[in-house]
Amino acid sequence: MLEKELIAKLEQRVEEINRLFPNEKVTLETLLNKILTKYLERKEESNKTTSGTEWVNFRRKIAKKMWQEAKHQCFYCKRQISFRLSTIDHKFPVGRGGELLNTENMVVCCKWCNKDKDILTDKEYFYKQLHNTANGIRPE
Ligand SMILES: [Zn+2]
Repeated sequence: MLEKELIAKLEQRVEEINRLFPNEKVTLETLLNKILTKYLERKEESNKTTSGTEWVNFRRKIAKKMWQEAKHQCFYCKRQISFRLSTIDHKFPVGRGGELLNTENMVVCCKWCNKDKDILTDKEYFYKQLHNTANGIRPE
């Protein structure tokens, strides 16, 4: 896209925003600043969660102990699981701002439930489990 075209498009967006939210008094500069700030915040957040090594090291230290303390049981489906099939789930997902290294935010669960839960919180997943049960969907 040509630079002129791009700027014209952005100016059009600014006009739209000002029409919708007259109190905001948005200019092209403030809009771009906002977008870039958001972009950097997200970048920082994703670096935090994907840096990984910190989490891998932490998990290595606590996984077995947590599995034993959970009496080899999946927090969500309550099945008995081998250590090999167990995972650690963040009840409040890290991708949604949950704490990565706080054991209060962690439970032991089976791989199936962890994948099925995805980015839901533990409470949201409770409802999905009800839906699963109603539809005959069971952990493998
Ligand atoms: Zn499970």
